[in-house]
Amino acid sequence: MRKHIVAGNWKMNNDLAQTQLLITELKRANKTSEAEVMIAPSFTNLWPAFESLRETNIEVIAQNMHFADSGAYTGEVSPGMLKSVGVKTVILGHSERRAYFNETDALLAKKVNAAQQHNMRVIFCVGEALADRKAEQHETVVSNQIKNALFHLSPEDFGQIVLAYEPVWAIGTGETATPEQAQDMHAFIRKTIANRYNQQVANAVSILYGGSVKPTNAKQIFAKPDVDGGLIGGAALDATHFFEIVNAF
Ligand code: PGA
Repeated sequence: MRKHIVAGNWKMNNDLAQTQLLITELKRANKTSEAEVMIAPSFTNLWPAFESLRETNIEVIAQNMHFADSGAYTGEVSPGMLKSVGVKTVILGHSERRAYFNETDALLAKKVNAAQQHNMRVIFCVGEALADRKAEQHETVVSNQIKNALFHLSPEDFGQIVLAYEPVWAIGTGETATPEQAQDMHAFIRKTIANRYNQQVANAVSILYGGSVKPTNAKQIFAKPDVDGGLIGGAALDATHFFEIVNAF
């Protein structure tokens, strides 16, 4: 059985007071599903979030990190710094990082390696733009993203990766991929992994869907056999909505 994961990507939202308030609400929520639950606050709020969620089953994860251990990288945060505040999982390759901060597959491969050297789990995001889908290039784009950043890993190391398929045209737009579009792409990703490694490795990897997941569509998306969870943006900023999505499993 693959792990089911629902992770809230808070992006650049919530100051300290807002973080504390949302966490208080999340702690009150009634979890009925077996899915692992994670939240990704901003760097400045990781430690207070970790402290207040210590005794709970909500994991605090990071939205990004640098690949170097330390040094002259003004404004950056290292894997060791994240680990020192309790973070064990990091989101890498989000389309906003790729688009606004010029993160390339080559850079992301370095970040993936750094995470693995620090025994951190990675949620690695892939996804095509609208133009790619219109040109029927979505499979090529996504398989290249995976190949270029992840396929240098050994089968054991690949086992530490969680994938998140997030079509760029569905992020924050209110437009969701249909459950069938998500299933098709997740099955394609799994086949790509099976071709590089083997069926066993491919069957074990959790593949999350992200892009305008809401309480109203989560159940249909999560019902698909190759969808193992969700990476939730906007709807993760509301405790009730977020747990409705968590409990859709
Ligand atoms: P969204 O964001 O749910 O607001 O579309 C998802 C994401 O970017 O991870």
